[in-house]
Amino acid sequence: MPNSLDTSAQEALRARLRFYRELGIGELYQREVDPAEWLLAASEPTQAPPRQAVALQQPPQAATPGPAAPNAPGFVPNIDLQPQESEIAPRKPFPAPPPQAAALPPEQHFAALKLIREEIGDCTRCALAAGRTKIVFGDGDPNAKLMFVGEGPGADEDASGIPFVGRGGQLLNNMIQAMGIKREQVYIANIVKCRPPANRTPEPEEALTCSPFLFQQIDVIRPKVIVALGQTAVTYLTGEKRPLMGWRGTVHPLRGTKLIVTYHPAYLLRDPNQKKHAWADLQIAMRELGLELPSRK
Ligand code: URA
Repeated sequence: MPNSLDTSAQEALRARLRFYRELGIGELYQREVDPAEWLLAASEPTQAPPRQAVALQQPPQAATPGPAAPNAPGFVPNIDLQPQESEIAPRKPFPAPPPQAAALPPEQHFAALKLIREEIGDCTRCALAAGRTKIVFGDGDPNAKLMFVGEGPGADEDASGIPFVGRGGQLLNNMIQAMGIKREQVYIANIVKCRPPANRTPEPEEALTCSPFLFQQIDVIRPKVIVALGQTAVTYLTGEKRPLMGWRGTVHPLRGTKLIVTYHPAYLLRDPNQKKHAWADLQIAMRELGLELPSRK
């Protein structure tokens, strides 16, 4: 199984990274985001094209409990009203995400991810570098059909260099297991690759400096479905800030993949009553992936 690239393929990938830089994406990595850009962005229409939401034929019913999730004792959905994950000011525009890169053959995905990791290096592009122990690049199958995107590493992830290994990670593992798949079959990454101090939400300049690398990872892996875990993930994946409720329940096109949005595991740990709604979201992902839904009891 050729997991390394030959010289010409390596050169092609390096050329692509040069191309990103020429497009200004490399510059985005290096540059401090001008706060004026943000002030301006708050009062002007978004630069990103409007995103089309594809309504599902059978949108999940909010008040109806989904089928039982088998073999997932830590992920037991139950019934309650659907609240917002947090109070978010709607529609704050963001700079457009970088253009999508060309697809690579599956056998080159591993090596391409390695090149992206090398490009990141011992990163000091934003303020988060000062407080981190390890860069948390991403984890899982380079050819995964399903990718999860979280917010940023916590203490356990910072120490281990692996995303979602703490309490939230245990719950995410249960959620994945409930879908009838294994963690090793998916790919998991975050909007920022370094731990924000005291687990605060990443600042826009931190997220916007780091997320182009995530977009490169997405463009290499080309999962069929991306599940955004929580507000920060969907905001920076789409470049559009609106309440989580406005994203959930439908499939959104994103970089040639299908984006599905659900609650962050940390939120579900704080409010387990919401697990059943997360489970409804995961069933949308399962349908899109052609995974068998567990039958209702
Ligand atoms: N929370 C996240 O958003 N990502 C992690 O990797 C861990 C906790």
